[in-house]
Amino acid sequence: MKQTTKIINQAKKEGRKALLEPEAKAICAEYGITVNKFDVATNAKEAVAQAEKIGYPIVLKIVSPDIIHKSDAGGVKVNLKTAAEVEAAFKTIMDNAKKYKADAQIVGEIVQEMAPQGTEVIVGAVKDPQFGQTVMFGLGGIFVELLKDVSFRVAPLTKEDAKEMIINLKAFPLLNGYRGSKPADLNALADVLCNVSKMILDNPEIKELDLNPVMAYPVGSKCVDARIILE
Ligand code: ADP
Ligand code: MG
Repeated sequence: MKQTTKIINQAKKEGRKALLEPEAKAICAEYGITVNKFDVATNAKEAVAQAEKIGYPIVLKIVSPDIIHKSDAGGVKVNLKTAAEVEAAFKTIMDNAKKYKADAQIVGEIVQEMAPQGTEVIVGAVKDPQFGQTVMFGLGGIFVELLKDVSFRVAPLTKEDAKEMIINLKAFPLLNGYRGSKPADLNALADVLCNVSKMILDNPEIKELDLNPVMAYPVGSKCVDARIILE
């Protein structure tokens, strides 16, 4: 996993603990986790050119080592449908970031494909002081934050372990065709969990990982936000 090692070493060299979204997504992609198409722009013109290449609708987000929670900083704009909208959003995000943290170091903005809406799930990993490298799974939004409806397993995970983690959630019916909606692709979600398990075991420098959200679809899944924190 050459790209992964390169990215981790570069961050270490720069004394950065939090990997940037494009870095975290490149690592995910190398481990077989489907992420949305993306590129990084340093000015509005470049952002428009990349958007045209990726295809509308587009999502723009701030890329800064000093801004971890991008939405809190006004650093995320979704569903941009034209070049003019991308250009305007690029400027707004820059202004918002500067207002949020005047001395933030800004790398640019990530220009990405807007993924179709799916059921938003969260895949995480933490180093538990007692049990070691642990993988977490839950449903997005209130299910994790308010209801604490999450499941944990110590890595390495088998495919069976991963499926059990998903099925064990109280909110599992929401993934399994509740009220006539199409069931999510459990096999694809289990693969994401297994790939995360492999990633964290291969790279003990990873202290925390947060794929929040991963869009779960009837066929396949797509990670639209990734955060990795190093030891
Ligand atoms: P934050 O750093 O605030 O967690 P996110 O990257 O998760 O920022 O973006 C906030 C929300 O915007 C996500 O929870 C998701 O609902 C939506 N979103 C982000 N990126 C995409 C994308 N590429 N396609 C579709 N929706 C997205
Ligand atoms: Mg997020």
